[in-house]
Amino acid sequence: KSSLMAGKRGLVMGVANNRSIAWGIAKAARQHGADVALTYQGDALKKRVEPLAAELGASVVGHCDVTDGPSIDAVFAEVERLWGGLDFLVHAIAFSDKDQLTGRYLETTEQNFSRSMLISCYSLTAVTQRAERLMRGGGSILTLTYYGAEKWMPHYNVMGVAKAALEASVRYLAADLGPQNIRVNAISAGPVKTLAASGIGDFRYILKWNEYNSPLRRSVTVEEVGEAATYLLSDMSRGVTGEVHHVDAGYHVVGMKNPDAPDI
Ligand code: NAD
Repeated sequence: KSSLMAGKRGLVMGVANNRSIAWGIAKAARQHGADVALTYQGDALKKRVEPLAAELGASVVGHCDVTDGPSIDAVFAEVERLWGGLDFLVHAIAFSDKDQLTGRYLETTEQNFSRSMLISCYSLTAVTQRAERLMRGGGSILTLTYYGAEKWMPHYNVMGVAKAALEASVRYLAADLGPQNIRVNAISAGPVKTLAASGIGDFRYILKWNEYNSPLRRSVTVEEVGEAATYLLSDMSRGVTGEVHHVDAGYHVVGMKNPDAPDI
């Protein structure tokens, strides 16, 4: 336990279960003394998120589906009622039709393209619009991205395009909000076995490939992403904004397969 985050109040969006990256971030922020509030998407996840929040001593501020503006408004109204202000916001939300996270990107439909962009990219801007008003003394906003935004990855397809736009959004939002001392950053996490990841074709192969070929020769945990996130959410990173910080066991520096890696 540390007091790095003492006095900081943060909304964490995107906990689905105890394997979620958002859960790793919520846990780490709590361990460092932050007050944390969670949202859930729909009744099915409510049943999972409520006990997790209780375990953590976190608040639950209601249902939020980012395709439904009034539900975003309701959650931020609840945060205002609870705390009167907000110091940090975590956006760990993405979605694409599973059928299009396999095969060729070329096959993406207009409907799934728009929906993936709305949920995985625009939603950061939508929640940032609401957070701005509550972050009166400055703040820190964090989203989650993946290396598939920068380079082609098998099966990542439309999600790679959405993450590229998400990373560009981080830079534009950082410039817009910098004068108010609100910082906006992203963590580019290495592959982690979560509910969302299980929708990606051949995910096990991707995970193994990263383990064998990353400089640290392993994958990362949600706890490690959580600790790095806590740095970006804390005043330790007060000089950092618009950044995409890789927490991927170093995989993004690798240009070629490790010749010693076993076959997968
Ligand atoms: P997860 O399934 O635990 O979390 C995804 C969350 O998105 C869920 O809580 C879900 O409820 C939420 N969500 C989806 N559609 C929504 C909507 N319309 N409204 C509100 N919430 C919605 O999976 P995760 O891997 O922890 O994903 C969190 C973030 O991390 C995502 O942005 C994902 O792209 C990113 N990421 C994941 C990995 C990985 O390998 N798991 C790697 C890099 C980045």
